[in-house]
Amino acid sequence: MALHVQILVGLLAGVAAGVTANLSGADGLRAALVGLEPVGSAFIRLITMIVVPLVVSSIIVGVSSLGDLKRLGRIGGKAVGYYLFTTVAAIVLGLALANLVKPGSRIDAATRDALAEQFASEAAAQSQRAHQAPALKDTLLGIIPRNPVRAAADFELLPLIFFSVVFGAAVGQLRGESQRTVIQFFSGVSDAAAVLIGWIMRLAPYAVFVLIAAVVARFGFDLLGSLLVYAVTVLVGLALHQFVTLALLVRLLARLDPRDFFRRTAAVQLFAFTTSSSNATLPLTLETAERRLGIPKSIAGFVLPLGATVNMNGTALYQAIAVMFIAQIYGAPMDLAAQLTIVVTATLAAIGAAGVPAAGIITLIIVLESVGLGGRIESGIALILGVDRILDMSRTIVNVIGDLTCAAFVAHSEGELST
Ligand code: ASP
Repeated sequence: MALHVQILVGLLAGVAAGVTANLSGADGLRAALVGLEPVGSAFIRLITMIVVPLVVSSIIVGVSSLGDLKRLGRIGGKAVGYYLFTTVAAIVLGLALANLVKPGSRIDAATRDALAEQFASEAAAQSQRAHQAPALKDTLLGIIPRNPVRAAADFELLPLIFFSVVFGAAVGQLRGESQRTVIQFFSGVSDAAAVLIGWIMRLAPYAVFVLIAAVVARFGFDLLGSLLVYAVTVLVGLALHQFVTLALLVRLLARLDPRDFFRRTAAVQLFAFTTSSSNATLPLTLETAERRLGIPKSIAGFVLPLGATVNMNGTALYQAIAVMFIAQIYGAPMDLAAQLTIVVTATLAAIGAAGVPAAGIITLIIVLESVGLGGRIESGIALILGVDRILDMSRTIVNVIGDLTCAAFVAHSEGELST
């Protein structure tokens, strides 16, 4: 059975188990499903374990085989340009939907206060974490690692990517034996990582079952009622961005049939949905790009790790709608200037969000502050936390698909897409 079918079966079985536990009121079953979650976490740890060796080796092999530095600059420029363009497009779509649907105008003050109270302590913890986030200047400086080994040890992917790209570029300038030796070594590391991924992926259907069952069992269905319009607005936005904007770009810029593209990337999408993490999905994203989409390693190995860290179309769209929603609930007017500010700050917030679960809700604070909602941070986040998990899972799909469409575009533009 194909991997995506296996994962889908695990996912559906997990949803069924979680819904049964929730609706039947069987507290024992709920507790059992939630208790199984560590099994799923073990799986995520296993797959995340490969990310550092995989990112380092695939970037070094990819970048060094690009040849001249001009080509590296061209490919990097295309990728960054595409990432920025699609991020802004996602935010504009999110804003348009929020203005059209006005999800925040449907919540009365009593519901608002009840929700805010229910999640107050969790929201306080999230905003605490956000306030520890460094300033923009430090973030930019932080891209240059003082010590690449420490960056790897701390799982700081952006500095690690920076080091790997410049190191790979230097390897590309070597000649003869020394170049071959280095490339062969890192190729071997990347091949061994692929073998490991294959082993771990055999566990995917079971892990997906456990992870989804626990999420659904814990999910409060009563919450969904009051936040339904908001959640559906985000989901519709994500679907439109993926199946209209990105599909169009796949057709126009990569000359691929979008339906075929989405079919080939089905396993990646299911996996992103379950893990809520672009980083944990990265090993599968890389493998899918090379094996199923025919994108050469030299391009995928560079464009995809970068995308997993900085490109988050889904997160950007979600942040635009979430800020508008919170503003509407508290009756804060959002004029054109404020919405333009959202375009800029949500772009930065999405770039700054790490590819891990719930990262987007933390950097949302940057956007809230930029439009004068700084005083509403904790209560605003408390309001939307109840449905955030499902939105996180869904926006992660769009984040990862955005990266893959970029890799396909870059490969096609270089005349190297072999499907
Ligand atoms: N979970 C998302 C990701 O890993 C980030 C977010 O929270 O929006 O792509």
